[in-house]
This record gives sequence, structure tokens and C-alpha cells, in this order.
Amino acid sequence: MALRKILSDNHPVLLTPTREVKKINSGVMRLLDDMIETMREAGGVGLAANQVGVSKRILIVSEGEEVVLELINPYCEHTEGEEIGVEGCLSIPGLYGEVPRAEKVVVRGLDREGREIRIEAEGLVARILQHELDHLEGVLFTGKALRMLEPEELQSEEQT
Ligand code: ZN
Repeated sequence: MALRKILSDNHPVLLTPTREVKKINSGVMRLLDDMIETMREAGGVGLAANQVGVSKRILIVSEGEEVVLELINPYCEHTEGEEIGVEGCLSIPGLYGEVPRAEKVVVRGLDREGREIRIEAEGLVARILQHELDHLEGVLFTGKALRMLEPEELQSEEQT
């Protein structure tokens, strides 16, 4: 495994829709392993492949300390409800904003074995999935935020 560089500052790869994975080969497996290591090192809870410069439909979501969801060619099949919550992004360090997201989602995709998987999620995991799915479309949370947090709000955000 190796750490990869996380792109930031509106890098063009971040703003471009990613391409479908045609074949799950050793390069894809290595990418997934590297993404997990890179996400953990950065203290993040999710990562999309184009954040490390690879324009492919691949995302990961941390579901607690040990478990990481890996999704290849993911798409959202169903959404339910709406809730507003605070989000940040490893590609936009230091900025946080209030973003409306669906409360519950059903996402389908493939695992690294090429098996079809279906994930039902709500709350934080649903929010992270939507954030990462947006990345794969070249969309950043700052474009969807109702408002960005002020620096003095950030301090209280970090304390809690
Ligand atoms: Zn992000």
C-alpha cells in the first residue's frame, strides 16, 4: 500500500465526471488499498478516486474504525427525506458548510470481487455516500452548501 496525494484547490480532475470501471484488475485493487490508507492518514471518513487523481467511478466510506465500504461503479437507487448537516472535504481543507442531503439512501455498486452489492444507509454514512457520489460527478460540496460556517463557528465545531 502507498499513500496517494489528495488533490485540492479546484484541480480539473475534481471538477470532471469520472469514468466507469470496465474491468476490476490489480490496478483497481491497489487503488482501493491506497485510497483506504490515504483516507485514514488524512483522518477522513470517505474518499473518491478522483480526489487522488484517478478519474474512475470508485469510492470508499469509513463505517467506524475497522470497516470501510468499497464501491465500484456506484449509483444511488433511492433517496428518502432530507436533512441539513455540516460537511467538510479533504480536498477543501479548513472549509465547512451546511449541506442538505437525503436522510436515507440506497446505493448499488460492485465490490472488489465484482459482486453486486446494495447498501442501505442513513445519517452520517448516507451523507458521506452522497458527498462521495457527488465527487464522482465532478461536484464539490461547496456548490451545494446553503451557507459556509464562519471561523468562530468552526472552533465550536471542532470542540464537539
Ligand atoms: Zn470531499
